[in-house]
Amino acid sequence: MTDIHTPRSPARLAVEAVRALSPYVTGKPMTELERELGITDIVKLASNENPLGPSPAALAAAQKSLADIWLYPDGNGHELKAAIARHHGVSLEQVTLGNGSNDLLVLLAEAFLSPQVSAVVSQYAFAIYGLVIQATGAVAKVAQALPEDSDSPFGHDLDAMLAAIDATTRLVYIANPNNPTGSWVSDAALRAFLAKVPDTTIVVLDEAYFEYARRFGCTDGADLLASHPNLVVLRTFSKAHALAGLRVGYALSHADVANMLNRVRQPFNVTIPALAAAEVALADPQQAVRAVALVEQGMAQLAEGLPALGVKAYPSAGNFVLADVSRGGLSGAQVFDKLLRQGVIVRPVGGYGLPRCVRITIGLADQNERLLAALKHCLD
Ligand SMILES: *Cc1c(COP(=O)(O)O)cnc(C)c1O
Repeated sequence: MTDIHTPRSPARLAVEAVRALSPYVTGKPMTELERELGITDIVKLASNENPLGPSPAALAAAQKSLADIWLYPDGNGHELKAAIARHHGVSLEQVTLGNGSNDLLVLLAEAFLSPQVSAVVSQYAFAIYGLVIQATGAVAKVAQALPEDSDSPFGHDLDAMLAAIDATTRLVYIANPNNPTGSWVSDAALRAFLAKVPDTTIVVLDEAYFEYARRFGCTDGADLLASHPNLVVLRTFSKAHALAGLRVGYALSHADVANMLNRVRQPFNVTIPALAAAEVALADPQQAVRAVALVEQGMAQLAEGLPALGVKAYPSAGNFVLADVSRGGLSGAQVFDKLLRQGVIVRPVGGYGLPRCVRITIGLADQNERLLAALKHCLD
């Protein structure tokens, strides 16, 4: 590591907002653990990926598309956008494609934020929101989350978020469900919130885990677009569709918002294999149905296994659980480290202000079993 604070470091030339950023810490890749500890047979339950993999038809489409990769992709992503528009019953002009939904979070910040304005997030919200806000120099207003002993532990407090919105607020972020807490907002609460947000604030509704969250009654944000011109719904192919490595997601919004996003979007931000695979994945909902069934089974497995180890798991509408592993006096970071030594990668969440917890992605039955056995070994 270098020290960017030495007087001659070229880092001093970077803009203030960027020098103040702490970079996002991603889930530990299996290859890194292999290099560092020489461990093989690793189970990665750290990045909310879908272990069933993508629809075979989507994979075949990506492979077939490789013959064309000497060409630039369609800069408009017309075919995929048309498929998405049909899927959601919106117009083509309301769809913006992104290099993962992460890309769209960056584009929204670039288009709507500046040092003169603010954005509102909940405490414990997905960390990328804070990063993209900070990078623009805008003021990030953090609304305190609901308490741990509430119906929605660590969840978004929509009243507190509304109270934090003022005339300078251009974006407010709702992750439904939120990562890493797994918390979600009810359909009624979300509708009541939207009715009260002023039209000078854009609501970014991040539905990365939509397919998993449906059985908890979570809203389909696309249904609310017609009545809320200030709503932006984010979806991704990374989670239930299992295309995380291809990087493709999209925003649904008012056509004028999409117009603004397209001004800052790189012309070729989604690759040819990603465009091809996503279009087919959208038309093959069975793969997501299988993913949801797997997560339901895995949740039941952990709901039995974790409390037996004295580990508290919080309710989750995603394909992951936030778990308090502090019962033996170890921090989440220490348990993360001990699990690594047994070849199991989870996600420490101390950076979120949840030092007693780790986030565990639901895996295949035998992977969940490995996790439970390794946790038992750590905590005993
Ligand atoms: C994983 C995730 C995303 C986006 O991931 P992409 O791979 O960039 O589409 C967005 N929001 C939340 C809350 C997530 O957990």
